[in-house]
Order: sequence, then structure tokens, then C-alpha cells
Amino acid sequence: MTDSHRPPDVDRVAASRRAVAARRARAALKKDIAMRVVSPQDVLARSADSADAAASTLRVTEFLTALPAIGAGKRDRVLDELRISPVKRLGGLGARQRAALAEWLDSRFPPVRPRSGRSRLLVLAGPTAVGKGTVAAHIAAHHPEILLSVSATTRAPRPGEIDGTHYFFVDDDEFDRMIDAGELLEYATVHNRHRYGTPRRPIEQALASGRTVLLEIDLQGARQVRAADPSATLVFLLPPSWDELVHRLVGRGTEDEEERARRLRTAKGELAAQSEFDHRVVNDTVAEAARKVVDLSEAPARYPSRP
Ligand code: 5GP
Repeated sequence: MTDSHRPPDVDRVAASRRAVAARRARAALKKDIAMRVVSPQDVLARSADSADAAASTLRVTEFLTALPAIGAGKRDRVLDELRISPVKRLGGLGARQRAALAEWLDSRFPPVRPRSGRSRLLVLAGPTAVGKGTVAAHIAAHHPEILLSVSATTRAPRPGEIDGTHYFFVDDDEFDRMIDAGELLEYATVHNRHRYGTPRRPIEQALASGRTVLLEIDLQGARQVRAADPSATLVFLLPPSWDELVHRLVGRGTEDEEERARRLRTAKGELAAQSEFDHRVVNDTVAEAARKVVDLSEAPARYPSRP
């Protein structure tokens, strides 16, 4: 190339910076797919828009191997079956290939199907450090008509936590007594450490008087509530990205290294359970996430709540 045809240095520097940024964005997207922070169906839909560079420039081969439990052999068989060339990028798929891939994804990763009926018993769950507590507290502060359930726990209070407001702090004997007396709607050992449970009475009273009740509990608890009251609405709170979730966990600084590693393992398992939920809400900003959760409770229930 002669000097007159070579792009100026500044352009080349800018272009290589853009290429690095694009690679990073694709790597972050693959992590989000692997950790199930985004659904593969969402990524495929976004890739049709060339403005979403990370999704549209992602190679179909990389997309498939980012999916849980898809290795190179399975990937090649799927591409063959769907008649998609391995050199394709998601944004470059033809309409028929796109539809075939979407159908395969739906069969392999069934999408969350929002329930049309709404309930007055709302359960907010999601991975550790996603900000469930902050969203729940925001709802409690701005919506006095909604009862935020106060759980019982065997863990010690943190500085600033008030007995009866943040939790009912009880010892193991009292927790056992509550279980035996049938006073808990659900209970679980969280992070393999302390026990947490939802007192049944205040919830039943609030529901009977027509109030909406919000439970901010872990995944095991959410499953128990679903079994006890199938009309409950289960909402899964998602982080904007896996990196953001790790950042929130580390940034909180209240846990040591071992505890953080344990919570990240738990978070990964919890993200994998989101398809059991009725709705997913991304916690981008607290106020917006809180509004979306409240919106899910504002129509009358399709099924009558238990008295
Ligand atoms: P923390 O100790 O940080 O306040 O809460 C730890 C975890 O316990 C959070 O994920 C929270 O959702 C969960 N949790 C709080 N209360 C309950 C409860 O009553 N039942 C269940 N199953 N989990 C709870």
C-alpha cells in the first residue's frame, strides 16, 4: 500500500480500539448466555438489529457453544440439521435459517411464558446480590398498600437491622417450634448456613383483607410457595449482565472470599431456574424494576387467592 492509500494513523488506532471493544462486548454477551442472564432467544431476536453489534456480529458457532451443555460435536450436528454454514454471524442469517434456529432454541430452552392472570401474592426471587432486597424495600417505601412480608431467620442481625422490621431474629429452638406449629408458609436453609422462613398468619390476614403481599425469598422458598398456592405470581429478578452481578456481589463487601465464591456458585444455579418463574424483570435501575414488579400485581387475580 502506498502512503497515499494507507489510512491515517489516528483512523487505524480508532479502528483497532473499536475492534477490541467489539470483541469484549461479544465475550461479555457469551458469558451472559452461558450464565443465563439473557435467553438465547432474546440474543437471536436482538441480532436482527445491526445496531446491536455484539449480538449481530456473534458467530453462530460461538453462539451455540455458549449455550449450556452444547459442545463442538452437538453444535456441528445442529448447524448441519438447520442448514446453517458455520462461518455465518447471527446478524447474517437468512429469514428461514433464523426461524429454524429460533424453533430449535424453543424446543431445547423452553421460554418463560408470562401468565396472563395476576395474583395478590407476589414472590420476588432471583440470584444472590441481584438487588432483591433493595427492590423490595423500594416497593415497601412507595407502596404502603402492599405488605412486605417480614421473615423469621436464625442468622444474627447485621448492624442497623431491627428485630420485627427487617427480620424476626430467632434461635434454632424457636425456628423449630414455628415449623412444628405450622406457622411458616415456607422455610429453607439459605447458602447452606442459616434458616429463613415466611410467617403464614400476617400473609393470610393481608390477603383476606384484599391487600397485595410481597415475599422476597430464595428459590427454594419460591418453589414451596408455588406448591402451597399455585395462584401466586413468581417474579424472577435478573441482573443486567453476569459481570454486573459479580460486581454487585464484590462491591457489597459484606462477605469474605469463601462466602463470595459460595454465593456465586449459588447464583449460577439460581439463574438456571428462571424458566420456572411466571415473569422475569431486569434490575437495571431499582425504581424501574420496582415499577414493573408492582405492575404485575395491579389487576385482579385470575384465580382467587387462598383465604
Ligand atoms: P440475607 O441474609 O442477606 O438477609 O438474606 C439471604 C437470603 O435469604 C436472600 O436471598 C433472601 O431472599 C433469603 N430469604 C430471606 N427471607 C427468606 C424467607 O423467609 N424464606 C426463604 N426461603 N428465603 C428467605
